[in-house]
Amino acid sequence: MSDSRIVMQDDEIFTEEHKTFRQTVRKFAESLAPHAEEWDEAGIFPKEVFKQAADLGLFGIRFDPEYGGMGLDWWWTAAYAEELVHTTNAGVNMALMVQSDMATPIIDELGSDEVKRNFLAPAIKGDMIAALGISEPGGGSDVAAIRTTARRDGDDYIINGQKLWITNGTRADFITLGVRTGDDGYGGITLLCFPTDCKGFSVGNKLKKIGNKSSDTAEIFFEDCRVPARYILGHENMGFYHIMTNFQGERLIAAVGGVAGLEKAVKDAINYGRERKAFGRPIVKFQVWKHKLVEHMASIEAAKRLSYFAVDKFIKNPMGATREITMAKLFVGELTQRVLYDCMQMHGGFGYTTEYPISRAWTDGRLITIGGGTTEIMKEILVKCEGL
Ligand SMILES: Cc1cc2nc3c(=O)[nH]c(=O)nc-3n(C[C@H](O)[C@H](O)[C@H](O)COP(=O)(O)OP(=O)(O)OC[C@H]3O[C@@H](n4cnc5c(N)ncnc54)[C@H](O)[C@@H]3O)c2cc1C
Repeated sequence: MSDSRIVMQDDEIFTEEHKTFRQTVRKFAESLAPHAEEWDEAGIFPKEVFKQAADLGLFGIRFDPEYGGMGLDWWWTAAYAEELVHTTNAGVNMALMVQSDMATPIIDELGSDEVKRNFLAPAIKGDMIAALGISEPGGGSDVAAIRTTARRDGDDYIINGQKLWITNGTRADFITLGVRTGDDGYGGITLLCFPTDCKGFSVGNKLKKIGNKSSDTAEIFFEDCRVPARYILGHENMGFYHIMTNFQGERLIAAVGGVAGLEKAVKDAINYGRERKAFGRPIVKFQVWKHKLVEHMASIEAAKRLSYFAVDKFIKNPMGATREITMAKLFVGELTQRVLYDCMQMHGGFGYTTEYPISRAWTDGRLITIGGGTTEIMKEILVKCEGL
């Protein structure tokens, strides 16, 4: 298929089967929505939600059927990400997407049969919770500066160090972990599967956040943790490249899901604006809001087409879509700030309460320019892509 797919209509991309799948995901997401505030207050959500998502096949969409996956393509992941926004709870969505699209794709791609049976298959079934452990207290953007070490000792690695910001970190059963096995810099990093029942592993503080509150974000510690060296993913000292490959899917799902979140926020704002009256008319009838809304709709449509273009390119050439994925993450991240600000403003005082989903969307949405690579890092990558 050529790049002309970008001008195709959505109903040419998504089949009747996608639509049925969408309905299933939406029903699941809407069943979680009433709990959003309660789970935000608790700073966690019930573990059973992982199992519920797994039972719908959401953790193995693209993965090898031999390990329980569905072997489908990225358009199915796009449909999943778009419908998941109906939880109105980005914390839950992020936790689920770490399991489905951030900690596990690299295992499906590079893991040995044993690693896939021990970690991927139970993650797909929802019997194990997965986390991705890359960022450290010393820095998240500078992945090449990872300091957590893994020293080879016979058939094992001995791991020492600390990770920070780890989503699902308080209850993960395993972590797709970036460690230093070699010299300083990007050439000395290795990726491996780390089982958290390992002696010497501990969870520190659960971080208090301003958004995505339902998901646990933890600091974790490794003290002389011994794991089999055969739990390696890919090649020793090639971890930096594997991490960068893995980031592509993480950034793409953030962009696609982000666009769907904006579409929902605008729709909700319009509905609110039709109900709420000021100076004798619905506030949506004020020209200032009509203009802002259509301007945002135009930008959201552009963001969607850019994201879909990136999906299409990623399907055709997984190693050749960095430019488009990075552009999509950058564009959607920055657009999110403007759209959610205006949608919240349209709600007036109610936008500043927890009465409507817009306040949660606004605080949750702040993360997209930070997590999975900041806006500034997206620009740095694009500078390289464009040879500037
Ligand atoms: C809620 C949440 C969940 C997260 N979940 C995970 C997870 O599950 N696993 C995981 O590994 N990580 C996770 N992270 C970490 C996240 O990926 C990092 O926060 C992010 O990559 C930024 O790293 P940092 O926080 O160390 O900021 P820093 O790297 O210290 O950056 C600080 C500022 O400096 C800017 N900056 C840095 N380098 C440059 C440069 N070269 N040029 C210009 N500006 C620059 C950044 O853009 C940023 O604005 C999570 C973070 C949050 C907040």
